[in-house]
Amino acid sequence: MNILVTGGAGYIGSHTVHELVNQGFDVIVLDSLENGHKEFLPENIHLFKGNLASLSDIEKVFISHKIDAVIHFAAYALVGESMENPVKYFHNNLAGGINLIKTMLKFNVKNIVFSSTCATYGIPERLPLDEIHPTNPVNYYGLSKRMFEQVLESSQIQGMNYVILRYFNAAGAAFGIGEKHNPETHLIPLVLEVALGKKDHVKVFGTDYPTKDGTCIRDYIHVLDLASAHILALKSLWVEKSGVYNLGTGKGTSVKEVIDICKEVSGKDIKVVEEARRPGDPPELVASPIKAKKELGWEAKHNIKDIIKSAWEWHSKHKDI
Ligand code: UDP
Repeated sequence: MNILVTGGAGYIGSHTVHELVNQGFDVIVLDSLENGHKEFLPENIHLFKGNLASLSDIEKVFISHKIDAVIHFAAYALVGESMENPVKYFHNNLAGGINLIKTMLKFNVKNIVFSSTCATYGIPERLPLDEIHPTNPVNYYGLSKRMFEQVLESSQIQGMNYVILRYFNAAGAAFGIGEKHNPETHLIPLVLEVALGKKDHVKVFGTDYPTKDGTCIRDYIHVLDLASAHILALKSLWVEKSGVYNLGTGKGTSVKEVIDICKEVSGKDIKVVEEARRPGDPPELVASPIKAKKELGWEAKHNIKDIIKSAWEWHSKHKDI
């Protein structure tokens, strides 16, 4: 089975590629390597350096390999940047995605798993977030992902089967690779950089939220659990079943709790500086994972401590990064 993974050299993409290879799939990666890391990929996979903005870059892959299904990760993913440069996000995440779908239809490839986000929901009207919660994204990143979901939903009448996976907060490390963004904006790697002495302090964005300790609550999900969800999503495509699923644990952890667990796991003191709220941050985002369990047979196996332990192990081995 040949699986094309766009953005396969990125953080979640590369972990999923390792899981696919372990489970015996043949993997072809299309990645611009703008943010991806070639060195994160296992040996013996076919890597095409190319951009979804270019139909010919995409077609090259489909001409040289018979693709059975696509897992589509390639996207820009910084909320803040999307608010300063929305067109960049629509160009890559929406127009690039449409180029991919056009090429898939041209080559009669009709199975796709799409890497989406809980940012498609916007400010929760109720918690935990289930898949029928209204989608009203409050940033252009979330909007670009939601618009592409609508393209997929519409392409069903052309025979496309899709599984949309809306991730909550991906974190952790596995397969000897980890989270390496430039710039880094995510909480767990930033806290661990302080524990490693690479940064003086971590900023806590907002301590006056209506939560138990005043800081934002998120549903952190181990990247390994995300990787395994993609395999189950692929399998559900074989029975031609389209659907949308939240991927989270159903348990929320506050920013302060994350910092406390990082202190415990690393054994280091971590200096905290309280700052104003970061614009666009909902107070609490927690998934209802019930549908994914019922229909995909998927469930997160790792808790927040497992996630932070795995991240700490990887970051402390790769201090130079
Ligand atoms: N956060 C923080 N300090 C940081 C980075 C993040 O307090 O240096 C908070 C952020 O406001 C949010 C939570 O940590 O409430 C998770 O943020 P992250 O950027 O990791 O993921 P997001 O929820 O934005 O996708």
